[in-house]
Amino acid sequence: MATYKCFRCERKIVHANLEKRFVCPHCGSKIFYKPRTEIKKVKAI
Ligand SMILES: [Zn+2]
Repeated sequence: MATYKCFRCERKIVHANLEKRFVCPHCGSKIFYKPRTEIKKVKAI
């Protein structure tokens, strides 16, 4: 599941909450960004 961060209040917003209204439920901002959570950790054996 994709999570976004509000550009204004910097709260995490689950993508499911944005399906109907693409508005931050906390502050009403419409600007989001996707934090880079896909950090690949490679363990060298
Ligand atoms: Zn917000």
